[in-house]
Amino acid sequence: MTVLVTGGAGYIGSHLVLALLDRGETPVVLDNLSTGFAWAVPAGVPLVTGDMGDADLVARTIADHGIREIVHFAAKIVVPDSVADPLGYYLNNTSKSRTLIETAIRGGVDRMIFSSTAAVYGDVSGDPVDETAPTAPVSPYGRSKLMTEWMLADAGVAHGLRSVALRYFNVAGADPAGRSGQSMQAATHLIKVAAQAVLGQRPKLDVFGTDYPTRDGSCLRDYIHVSDLADAHLAALDHLRGGGGSLTLNCGYGQGTSVLEVIEVMKRVSGVDFPVAISPRRPGDPAAIVAKADRIRSELGWSPKRDDLDGIVRSALAWERHLLTAKAA
Ligand code: UDP
Repeated sequence: MTVLVTGGAGYIGSHLVLALLDRGETPVVLDNLSTGFAWAVPAGVPLVTGDMGDADLVARTIADHGIREIVHFAAKIVVPDSVADPLGYYLNNTSKSRTLIETAIRGGVDRMIFSSTAAVYGDVSGDPVDETAPTAPVSPYGRSKLMTEWMLADAGVAHGLRSVALRYFNVAGADPAGRSGQSMQAATHLIKVAAQAVLGQRPKLDVFGTDYPTRDGSCLRDYIHVSDLADAHLAALDHLRGGGGSLTLNCGYGQGTSVLEVIEVMKRVSGVDFPVAISPRRPGDPAAIVAKADRIRSELGWSPKRDDLDGIVRSALAWERHLLTAKAA
């Protein structure tokens, strides 16, 4: 089965490409390489360098490769950037997704997996949030993704396109075999930043707020290993291939880990006591974002294999070391 993976040269997309190859499938990557890397696409996997908003290119790719299903990762994903440049985010994440969906339907595609986000819920500090919770995104990023969920749902009713929207919580870690990882050096995510602090690429790690109403005052997040997330996409594909209907599913483990706990794990796993500074809150950070993650298990039969923060941190650190060695070579 040939699967078109938009954004397949990026962090999560490249892990799905590996997972597809590992089970003998044939991915084709469409990526404009704005934040992805051509070297992240394994040898032998076709890389179409271009934009999902380019209807002609998408139509040709679908026809050339006989595509019937698309996994759609390609997006801009930095929340503060979306506040500064909302129209750029709506163009990229919403308008271009609209073009992709329309071109896909015209080309005979009838299954799509969509990378959505916990940001569609907005500020949900408190109990773990399930998929029936009201959506009230607080950033243009969250809104740009929610609108795409709506387009997919409406296109499903009108045109029969079946889709699974996966709402990611905090994705972290790297391929356990060391074949891919988070490669954007400018990434701001906590576990990436902590790994960079271990390796001396940053002088210190700032903790953005220790005055939240949580068990230790720092924010709680639900960290999910990127390879478990890739497996969730495979399970979603299998669901649709088996004739299953459209779904919206949280992707997390259902437990919150605090920023200070993550730092403690990174220090223990690495054996490096890097400097940590307590800083003011970062604007827009909710105190806690934790998934109620039962539905994905019952609907897809998915269960995590790497639900272990030590392992997530270890794999992220190994990838950071790999990037450093590759840069030096
Ligand atoms: N965080 C931090 N220092 C950093 C990066 C992140 O204290 O250098 C905190 C951030 O304020 C949030 C948590 O770590 O409470 C997770 O942030 P991240 O950017 O990884 O993901 P987000 O939850 O914002 O999507």
